[in-house]
Amino acid sequence: MVSENAKISQLLAGNWKMNGLRAALAEIRALGRGIADLQGVEVLICAPATLLAEAAKAAEGTPIEIGGQDCHIQNSGAFTGEISAEMLRDAGAKYVILGHSERRQYQGESDVLIAEKVVAACREGLRPIICVGETEAVRDAGEAEQVVTAQLTASLPKDFPAEMGLDELAVAYEPVWAIGTGRTPTTSQIAQMHSALRSALSTRFGSEIAVKIRILYGGSVKPDNAAELLAVPNVDGALVGGASLKAGDFLAIIRASAQIS
Ligand code: PEP
Repeated sequence: MVSENAKISQLLAGNWKMNGLRAALAEIRALGRGIADLQGVEVLICAPATLLAEAAKAAEGTPIEIGGQDCHIQNSGAFTGEISAEMLRDAGAKYVILGHSERRQYQGESDVLIAEKVVAACREGLRPIICVGETEAVRDAGEAEQVVTAQLTASLPKDFPAEMGLDELAVAYEPVWAIGTGRTPTTSQIAQMHSALRSALSTRFGSEIAVKIRILYGGSVKPDNAAELLAVPNVDGALVGGASLKAGDFLAIIRASAQIS
């Protein structure tokens, strides 16, 4: 679907999280065959680091882009277990998810750290997908919009490296309570949040750039709800976890986007 605000194509991004052995590369090949005839959508698989280079090979000759799920703020050094933006790029990644709620929750990542990671990613020409989203308690307290827009503002670096066009940023609104639960906000709650995020981007970058920055919805997007969720105003695509692991399910979601364009 073409986003109504800026006429940008939707981005359908799969987040495989800590899932996928080499056998899963067959899903990328199958997805590549399935989307060969589709126009007007961009498709991304954010694979685990162990699969990135082979995933990039499996995606060669298809419209699928490959992304990482996190990066360190430094390019190299004594940081055991970490992976840098330069390494992601070298392995064939074009995008990187930053500030996913699972990293905020389990690795204690702060907005300030995420903003530094955005700089590191942009320096290497990786397109960051900055994740924000409220907990259920915050939504119940009526503070979702305020908390999520503040999260976004604080996760954006003060200065961006010149290498990266600002319109190459993407934001993913992912309510924590909707991730992996089968629950989603109502379409009007999503519309309200995405409009608030667009305004926050406009305040920061001006409206001309803000309309070009994709705002994805994430949280229990499935083949049977994708058409409805992707048609919400200011939704410029989806970040999909569980349903991106099988080519058939992800393809159905991607087709839902292509059909409403
Ligand atoms: C996610 O973790 O980014 C996500 C959206 O997961 P799921 O689609 O499984 O809810």
